[in-house]
Amino acid sequence: MPVTHRSNASIRIAGSRWFVLASLLLAAALPAAGQEMTVEAYEPRSTLKVPGGPVTRAKFPFVDAHGHLRARDPARIDQMVKEMDEMNMAVFVNLSGGSGEGLKANLAATKGRYPNRFVVYANVDFSGIGEPGWGKKAAAQLQADYDAGARGLKIYKNLSMFQTDIHGERVAADDPRIAPVWDKAGELGIPVLIHVGEPSAFWDPWDEHNERWLELKMFPNRRRDDPKRFASFEQTMSEQHNLFRNHPDTIFLNAHLGWFGNDLARLGKLLDELPNVYTELGAVLAELGRQPITGAAFMEKYQDRVLMGKDSWEPIEGYHVYFRVLETRDEYFDYYRKRHAHWKMYGLGLSDEVLEKVYFRNALKIIPGIDPSLFPE
Ligand SMILES: [Zn+2]
Repeated sequence: MPVTHRSNASIRIAGSRWFVLASLLLAAALPAAGQEMTVEAYEPRSTLKVPGGPVTRAKFPFVDAHGHLRARDPARIDQMVKEMDEMNMAVFVNLSGGSGEGLKANLAATKGRYPNRFVVYANVDFSGIGEPGWGKKAAAQLQADYDAGARGLKIYKNLSMFQTDIHGERVAADDPRIAPVWDKAGELGIPVLIHVGEPSAFWDPWDEHNERWLELKMFPNRRRDDPKRFASFEQTMSEQHNLFRNHPDTIFLNAHLGWFGNDLARLGKLLDELPNVYTELGAVLAELGRQPITGAAFMEKYQDRVLMGKDSWEPIEGYHVYFRVLETRDEYFDYYRKRHAHWKMYGLGLSDEVLEKVYFRNALKIIPGIDPSLFPE
């Protein structure tokens, strides 16, 4: 009897050794699972059965009011227009137009090839701010860029965040030295799409409670939690709100739901106070998609003030998620960029009237040079 026991045990031990070895080999070949898996690798497949499905084409022709395009290769532009047609995008607004000769080249590559499918914005070069006459010179450059064909001005987030003047001081969005530029945009009747600030979570401690923990792990240089290096979120926001207040005759398109997508009541207050301010959905769709009731009520109330925008062409399937969130009442479906949203989407089910405004009517109202014949009357 004891002999049998021993041999059974040794067979068991030998068996478990093989099992361990096989598991190790398997683990090397397959993505980590079980206890070894990291949160980044976790991609649960929903078992929920509810009606609905992907929407690959927008219900109405739309303007992407927040796009970036640096490619000038004709084949690339042709391919892009094909993809625009497939998803019902009538007009792509390229915010990365640049200035001077670069702007002219961007205009030629896009508008030159497809005159009514592209709108190109100019950018301001802030280097040299602090030199006497900088504002006048920058305003004159904007006039020249408008004359070359630019139909908007895009301000990047360097303003109020990283941009320094010739004395090494941070330049705030409401710096009076920039006033001639804002006034020139107002005079030309072109909108200023401005991206100042970032998600407030970038200023929060980078810990297990941070809503953008994954993004900050992937891009640690997006952390803003060092008060010696960055103005606070509140300070940064209030500087751009002052700018809007100081220039009531200029139209500002406050990008990314003004970084108040997680506090739509606060965004509503801002829009109530400042009739020259509009906003758009670039890269913040997940904010609406996680609050379908509050989000739909916001879009209903501010239907004249919100524009469609995505911010990056890739991934193209991201557009489909926009259509699905805005148009349907689908429940619990995937977002397209995990680092932005650790949660699922829900459709807002916007009415045709609201959809038309967000997709194109508001853009037609504030962005000059869009061909109205591309859209329903
Ligand atoms: Zn952008």
